[in-house]
Amino acid sequence: MKFEAIAVENIPLIHAGDNLPSIICENIELQDRDIVIIASTVVAKAEGEIFRLEDITPGKISLEIAARTGRDARFIEAVLSRSGEVLVEKPFMLVTTLSGHTCVNAGIDESNIENGFLLYPPENPDASASRLGQELERLSGKKLSVIITDTNGRAFKIGQTGVAIGIYKIKPVKRWIGEKDLFGRDLEITEEAIADELAGAANLLMGEGAGGIPVVVIRGLDYYCDEETYIKEMYRPEELDIIKKGLRCLQK
Ligand code: GDP
Ligand code: MN
Ligand code: MN
Repeated sequence: MKFEAIAVENIPLIHAGDNLPSIICENIELQDRDIVIIASTVVAKAEGEIFRLEDITPGKISLEIAARTGRDARFIEAVLSRSGEVLVEKPFMLVTTLSGHTCVNAGIDESNIENGFLLYPPENPDASASRLGQELERLSGKKLSVIITDTNGRAFKIGQTGVAIGIYKIKPVKRWIGEKDLFGRDLEITEEAIADELAGAANLLMGEGAGGIPVVVIRGLDYYCDEETYIKEMYRPEELDIIKKGLRCLQK
């Protein structure tokens, strides 16, 4: 058994309005059931999600949080503009974004972009994945899956990894319910986070710095799903999320 992870080379610096699918197709010949993994950074750049810190006017709540935490109120304003709920204010802003993803700073980045600018993640990552996937399929004539990734920390471990924040035509979670282990016992671990595992694998080639590899193609694994799929399938339902409940208690 094996699969390939292929870095797509020669992608230029991406700017607002750039046509990512055609740039990708110019630099790799896609095959049926390839999984095209795209860093949210370049999706956001192409979508023009770039803001100048000095143009942001903080509101009352941002000023209050900034006073409590000693951070730049304009940056807090940016984070709040993409947040549904703030779970932690200090020492970092941990929020649930409007698309349901829980992460630090609502995924707003200050790296891999010019100084003084903020890069907001795509506002609706599933919609972005779907738009990119449909165009990639049209240009290549192949059946494809797409995952938009970002780099996130994990609650209990040192080190960030790639995670999925938006998907197209891939089931993000593999259910092992009803299957047996090597010794015939019912499986205890029954849900495998396929989309995050693939994002992590792709991130090995992307890295976090000046590598200039925002797109990786995974070939040889078959997770293609010929219907609409949604990243929210990966988000734990509110009533079962005991960590979030705990964080809310700490905030009070
Ligand atoms: P994130 O994880 O989505 O926030 O993306 P990162 O900022 O970590 O970047 C992931 C990869 O994409 C790294 O290899 C970066 O060097 C690369 N990258 C970021 N922006 C661009 C760009 O505009 N063009 C190219 N070619 N690579 C980029
Ligand atoms: Mn990022
Ligand atoms: Mn990254």
